[in-house]
Amino acid sequence: MKSASTYRAVQAVSKGKLELTEKPLVDPPAGHVRIRVEACGVCHSDSATVEGILPIAWPRVPGHEAVGRIEVIGSGVEGWKVGQRVGVGFLGGSCGYCDYCRDGDLVNCTNQGYTGVQQDGGYAEMMIAKASGLIAVPDDLSSVDAAPLLCAGLKYARRMGFEVVAIDRGGGDRAELSKKLGAHHYIDSSSTDVAKALQALGGAQMVLATASGGKAVAAALGGLRRGGVVISLGATDEPIELSAFDLLFRQLGVDGALTGTSKAGDATLRFSAMSEVAAMIETMPLEKAAEAYAKMMSGKARFRMVLTMT
Ligand SMILES: [Zn+2]
Ligand SMILES: [Zn+2]
Repeated sequence: MKSASTYRAVQAVSKGKLELTEKPLVDPPAGHVRIRVEACGVCHSDSATVEGILPIAWPRVPGHEAVGRIEVIGSGVEGWKVGQRVGVGFLGGSCGYCDYCRDGDLVNCTNQGYTGVQQDGGYAEMMIAKASGLIAVPDDLSSVDAAPLLCAGLKYARRMGFEVVAIDRGGGDRAELSKKLGAHHYIDSSSTDVAKALQALGGAQMVLATASGGKAVAAALGGLRRGGVVISLGATDEPIELSAFDLLFRQLGVDGALTGTSKAGDATLRFSAMSEVAAMIETMPLEKAAEAYAKMMSGKARFRMVLTMT
């Protein structure tokens, strides 16, 4: 039995190194809550913290796909209850007073910390989170199922009524897995001209580029129909090469998205519960976080890795 004044956490201490530690329990400051974490997804973006890709002051607890129950509510917090199950995603909560917040653009708040990067995240039994960033978790969605949905949506496109094309390198089991995840079509980019294949299907209205690479984004442009847009989700500093002609004559768009508002997070989880869309997950206990992280990074994890705390 652990003592009540400390909790277990796994923190990044140096490049590539995660270690289990005990941290002293603290009360949430004003505007924040303390959450007893039940599950936390292990995401490729955690490498920003563990490998120091973003500027990090180690030690830092990674994890921006955390789900748990509110244990203590800080002063000035309204609208949330002790015992309520909540999620904490990458965006740590908007400030409410910057230019962007006042204009209703909460995602682009300039005073918003990144969970697991600028403040400790969910690879822990406890975490402190800003109330404005909390996401409500529906009762009929388990914590392990909800966790990866705070960041990665896998099967939504088909349930939302789109004709879905998955593009990946390799055939066989990848094609099979894509179909399981809801794709109607599969394009093997290692053996097929992606742009031609997409055009043969009528051209894509939207391409979500999850791969980290400017070339993959550029390659997708050729597969868009007129007025189509490619949204880059993979974190990379590789430049995206494109022709002004594409923008002019085909009215193509290139955009990026970090994540949505906390209210969009509520809607995502409700949609998942109502349409019974869940990510395919593999769970591991918190103390095996380093192993779960290594498995995810190696590309050998077929499913989303999720840490459990109980
Ligand atoms: Zn993530
Ligand atoms: Zn703000």
